[in-house]
Amino acid sequence: AAVLSIRNLSKLYKDFIALDRINLDVRRGEKVVVLGPSGSGKSTLIRCLNRIEPHDSGSLHINGQAITARTDLIRLRALVGLVFQNYNLFPHLSVLDNCTLAPRLVRRMPRAQAEALAMRFLQQVNIAGQARKYPIQLSGGQQQRVAIARALCMQPEIMLFDEPTAALDPEAVSGVATIMNDLAAQGITMLCVTHEMRFARHVADLIVFMDQGRIMEITPPEQFFTNP
Ligand code: ADP
Ligand code: ADP
Repeated sequence: AAVLSIRNLSKLYKDFIALDRINLDVRRGEKVVVLGPSGSGKSTLIRCLNRIEPHDSGSLHINGQAITARTDLIRLRALVGLVFQNYNLFPHLSVLDNCTLAPRLVRRMPRAQAEALAMRFLQQVNIAGQARKYPIQLSGGQQQRVAIARALCMQPEIMLFDEPTAALDPEAVSGVATIMNDLAAQGITMLCVTHEMRFARHVADLIVFMDQGRIMEITPPEQFFTNP
């Protein structure tokens, strides 16, 4: 069964069709990379999955449950983690406090338990040594790893990445690729928007190519990158 199931999903901005009847199934632990020209609807698709934007028609199911206007957004966003291009860490909080905030507020987890959980994920992304630092003291690649750890602290089933490597140097890019491959091995399902073809080739189980709000092609990366 698909963890994520998208059927005829459409999204309009006034009369502009940003998503035009999108269909996609993603299985547990699968990594889908979404490619396509600027303006093709990639970010809109990610935003609809997390309901930052509501869709206008079609359906969206996560683990068989429909995502609708009545869906509890706090629960949805615990289930679906989001990592942005610009990390979006809280600048006035330490790395550790960035990670413990949501578990403490949303899950009402005691501080000690939230910190133990956060340290586990900070270790997984190899940044535990910086736990007491503030975001501004870290490199872009380190901040992005903190952002990933922070999302993991809510123990999501699905992780969405919107251009996660856009601001990173090549070494940090390959670090993100390695983390995504680790997460897939743990059964986390991922959708990633990117412009970086090498990164896409390294992480994708499936390439989704979008243009003008439509999915034009769903192909394995080997096939996508050898087609003329
Ligand atoms: P991509 O991520 O592929 O670059 P987007 O999903 O950001 O594409 O945007 C798809 C289209 O929808 C673009 O033409 C964009 O201008 C338009 N769009 C995105 N967000 C809004 C918005 N909030 N209001 C109006 N139009 C928008
Ligand atoms: P090429 O892209 O030149 O054919 P490979 O695909 O063989 O090289 O990648 C060689 C190694 O470089 C891989 O093991 C990968 O971990 C690392 N690497 C370098 N750049 C990236 C990147 N942008 N994304 C992911 N991995 C990368």
